[in-house]
Amino acid sequence: MPSTKYIFVTGGVSSSLGKGIIAASLAKLLQSQGYSVTIQKLDPYINIDPGTLNPYEHGECYVTDDGAETDLDLGHYERFLNVPTSQANNVTTGKIYKSVIEKERKGEFLGKTVQVIPHITDEIKERIQTLGNTGEYDLIITEIGGTVGDIESLPYIEALRQMKWDLGQSNVLAIHLTLIPYLSAAKELKTKPTQHSVKTLMESGVQADILVCRTEHEIGNAIKEKLARFCNVDKESVIQSIDASTIYDVPNLMLEEGLDKVVLKKLNLKSDKPNLDVWNSFLKRYRNPKNKIKIGLIGKYVELQDSYKSILESFIHAGATNEVEVEIISIHSEYINKENVHSKLAYLNGVLVAPGFGERGIEGKIQAIEYVRVNKIPFFGICLGMQMAVIEFARNILNLKDANSTEMVEETSSPVIDLMQSQKNIVNKGGTMRLGSWECELKKESNAREIYNSNTIHERHRHRYEFNSDYLDKIESKGLIASGINSKTGLVEIIELNNHPWFIGVQFHPEYKSTVYNPHPLFVSFVKAGLEHSKLDL
Ligand code: GLN
Repeated sequence: MPSTKYIFVTGGVSSSLGKGIIAASLAKLLQSQGYSVTIQKLDPYINIDPGTLNPYEHGECYVTDDGAETDLDLGHYERFLNVPTSQANNVTTGKIYKSVIEKERKGEFLGKTVQVIPHITDEIKERIQTLGNTGEYDLIITEIGGTVGDIESLPYIEALRQMKWDLGQSNVLAIHLTLIPYLSAAKELKTKPTQHSVKTLMESGVQADILVCRTEHEIGNAIKEKLARFCNVDKESVIQSIDASTIYDVPNLMLEEGLDKVVLKKLNLKSDKPNLDVWNSFLKRYRNPKNKIKIGLIGKYVELQDSYKSILESFIHAGATNEVEVEIISIHSEYINKENVHSKLAYLNGVLVAPGFGERGIEGKIQAIEYVRVNKIPFFGICLGMQMAVIEFARNILNLKDANSTEMVEETSSPVIDLMQSQKNIVNKGGTMRLGSWECELKKESNAREIYNSNTIHERHRHRYEFNSDYLDKIESKGLIASGINSKTGLVEIIELNNHPWFIGVQFHPEYKSTVYNPHPLFVSFVKAGLEHSKLDL
C-alpha cells in the first residue's frame, strides 16, 4: 500500500483554462486540512526547460531555489502553498527523452529495442514518483500540460493509465478540467465539447474521476446531471469553476463546490474543515484598500500579461499588506526618450525597471532611471534593472560616458557590468547562467538590512552578467552603496542610494519568493515608499 497518493489534472476542450490555478487551489485546500502536498508540472514540449524560451512563447521563466528554470505555474504553486518547489517539480518531454537516450548509450537497456511504451512511460512514471518516494508528501498533484488529444501528451496520459493499475484506483485520481462554453445566440451552456474530451481521454484508457468545469455562467443542476450521465461520473464529482475576479478567490470557490471533499473521499482519506484564516485575512485586506498608488513597470515585454507574472503577483501581496491598491502602469522601455520621459513618469509614485536580456529598450530604461533618481521617485531595479541603474550612475555621476554592460557593447571602455571569469568559456545557452539560491550578507545600517531585518538573506538568481567590482570604490565614493554582498563570491548583489527616498537595485529576483503568506519585504517596503510618495504635496 503506497503511502503517497497521486492526483492528476488533465485539460480538455481548450488550452489556457487555468489547470495550474485549479491544481494550486486544490493543493491549498488539502494543505489547510493538514496534508502535506506538492504540485508537479509535466510539459509535453521537447525543450529541456523553458530557460531558452522567449517570453513571447512562454511567458515568464520561473526559477526555484535549486536553480531549475521552470514553467510559470510553479510560481503559482509556491505563492499558494508557501512551500518551495525544486528541479523534480517540472518535467519536460526533452528531459525524459534526454535521460532515456543517455541510458541507452550506456547500454542500460541490455540490447532491448527502446520504445515509447514501456521505456518513455517508465521514465515518466519514475519522474512522477520521485517526489512521492521522498516520503515527504501525502499527496502529489501532477498537472499534465496541453490538452487531451494532443499528440505530444499521449505518453503522459498512458503513464497515468498505467499508474492507476500499478497503484490501484484509490491511490490515483484523474481530474479533468474542461470548458462549458456559452452560446449567446442560443442563450445556452453547451456540454458537448466536454463529452468529447472525456471520450478522448477514455480512448487512451483513462476514465476521468472528477470534472472541473470552467464556465462564465452558473452551470446549475440540470447541466451537472447531464454531464454526470454522459461522462460516467457521479454528480458530486461535477465541479463548477466559474470565472473569478482574482485567482486568489479560487480556493474558496472550490471549497464551496466541495472539490476537496470529493477528492479525499475517492482517495479514502478523511476530510476536515480547511483552516484558511491567513488566506482569508489576506483577501480581506486585498479587497478593502485604504489608498491607491500608481507604479510604473518598465520593460520590453509589457504587452504580455504573463511575462512579468511573479512581479505582478508580488505587488498584489505587498499591496494587501499595506492595504493599498497598486495600479500597475506598463511602460514600454523602447519608447522612452529624453523628450517624453517626464510625461511618462512624472505622475507615478514608484518605478520598477524589470529584468531582461539583450539591448532592445535599454537606453529607455537608463533614461527612466536618471529621471526617477533626480526627481526622487521611488525606484526598484530587478536584475537587468539593477544593472541599468549602475550604468546610469556611472555615465551621469562618474562621467564615464560610454559606461555599459558587455552584454550590450562588448568593447565598451567602461564595462561597469561584465561577465564573470567562470562565464567566459561557456558555449551552451541552456541552464548555464548563475541560477538558483545564493547567500548574501547585508551591510550594517543599510536600507536593505533594515528592510529584511536580517544580516544574511537567500535569494534566487538568473543572469550571466555581474556588477564589475573594479568600479566599486569609485561608485560607492559618490553615494551608490553596495549594501548586499554575496557571501561566497564577494559579488555585489544589492545597490542603494543613500540620498533618495527609496532607490534599490537587486541582482537577484525577489519576485520569485513572494507568497500570500510571506509577501516579499522589498516589495512591501517599496509599496510603502510609493504610498508615502503619493501623500507628498508635489
Ligand atoms: N541580461 C542580464 C544578465 O544576463 C540580466 C538578466 C536578468 O534580468 N534576468 O546578466
